[in-house]
Amino acid sequence: LEPAYQFMLRVVLPSGVATSQQWLAMDGLAHKYGNGTLRLTTRQTFQMHGILKWNLKPTLKKINAELMTTLAACGDVNRNVMCSPNPFQSDLHGEVSHWARQVNDHLAPRTRAYHEIWLDGEKVVDGQQDGAEVEPIYGPVYLPRKFKIGFAIPPYNDVDVFSQDIGYIAVIEDGKLKGFNISVGGGMGMSHGDTATYPQLGKVIGFCPPERIVALAEKTVMIQRDYGNRSVRKNARFKYTIDRHGIEWFKSELQNRLGWQLEDVRPYQFVNNGDRYGWLKGSNGKWNLTVYIQSGRIDDQEGYPLMTGLREIAKVHTGDFRITPNQNLIIGNVTSQKKRKITELVEQYGLTDGAHHSALRRSSLSCVSLPTCGLAMAEAERYLPTLIDKLEPIINEAGLRDQEINIRMTGCPNGCARPALGEISFIGKALGKYNMYMGAGHAGDRLNKLYRENIDETEILDTLRPIINQYAKERDSGEHFGDFVIRAGYVKAVHDGQEFHN
Ligand code: SF4
Repeated sequence: LEPAYQFMLRVVLPSGVATSQQWLAMDGLAHKYGNGTLRLTTRQTFQMHGILKWNLKPTLKKINAELMTTLAACGDVNRNVMCSPNPFQSDLHGEVSHWARQVNDHLAPRTRAYHEIWLDGEKVVDGQQDGAEVEPIYGPVYLPRKFKIGFAIPPYNDVDVFSQDIGYIAVIEDGKLKGFNISVGGGMGMSHGDTATYPQLGKVIGFCPPERIVALAEKTVMIQRDYGNRSVRKNARFKYTIDRHGIEWFKSELQNRLGWQLEDVRPYQFVNNGDRYGWLKGSNGKWNLTVYIQSGRIDDQEGYPLMTGLREIAKVHTGDFRITPNQNLIIGNVTSQKKRKITELVEQYGLTDGAHHSALRRSSLSCVSLPTCGLAMAEAERYLPTLIDKLEPIINEAGLRDQEINIRMTGCPNGCARPALGEISFIGKALGKYNMYMGAGHAGDRLNKLYRENIDETEILDTLRPIINQYAKERDSGEHFGDFVIRAGYVKAVHDGQEFHN
């Protein structure tokens, strides 16, 4: 008798864009083979939980039949490529998203083993000259660690571009996409108690036109393949390779391999790394509705049939669905004719743009953590909403209900919800205990810093109450919480991850 092992499954969905048919397929699979819910992730894709081992194959077959895949959604390869879903600039989003897909597809592993194992494809080794597959980018042993890429469209940094191994920052001049500033060497993960590990911000090294970015991604991945640390897995991410050798070494190695030089960095500015909720009209004349999804979880709860509502919308929606990097959902490219019907369904099922929530809740992000993540040390998805329930009276009393403060929580320091970029963040240490960090930049351009270690809920509330009250009284006009706690002396500003533990 075989034990009923269950699995998590993640989809590759470049830029987080899915058709209505794909949405319905994922919804159907979640009910047929999963735990009846879907999780929207911080890398703009679907995660399903609770798939029994013998149901994996039909699940993967259906996902592939709907023109999606799970190949390279995990593993030591390039992961799902992210792209800002900015609904204001729909034309540009389409163009930048096109490039994100090009990079995503170019870096996909060439192996046929996936097809053989899961999709009843041809035998892998038959027909190969020497019996081995060739991976032209990854080589025989793949990368030392996972690799992450994101595309941002300023002024919004919703993809947290500086947290990516390669960040592409779109440069728009006269309404046209001219190319991308290139950021390299960002990453969020670390290990508790190991100061050789730290979160890091990407460094912007130059500019290049769109038609060159695929080659740039390929050569960068190959440099990491060749120079990444294969002895110490905790130091294997690309950020450590760059910090070990220096950014000038990397730039020179990259340009040598490319055979051309990067141009000077072009001006850019980010204002925040959050989402814009509600109905917005895109530059293509179509409508986009950003729906607030608490912790990215799509399910039906008593009094809030979110999953059913989205299913009914998918049945009539002719545009697309876009998963945001903040785990929310855009019902995108809605025609004026369909807007009325979709508005009716939104009202019928009580879907919310989050307007009745505090700005703190709308700016929250948490990883999956317990009960499904094997690395979790503490709750995140299931606890952050409760903690915010308890913070909201403090925020309300201080008159800060509409003040956006990024608050993030993860169950371990692996950093899936990019906690080092939260103005207030919690990283799990043990059940009910968290390290608390403060001081990240509101636009995702500065790391936060440890403020209190191993504290429980009472200590969290006691610690934050006076800081929030002081912020309400003493902040400068337009000053963000992350900037204030640095000016007020609570934590030091961290612009380089190598100073994160100092
Ligand atoms: Fe990621 Fe850690 Fe959260 Fe698991 S507990 S989802 S590994 S951050």
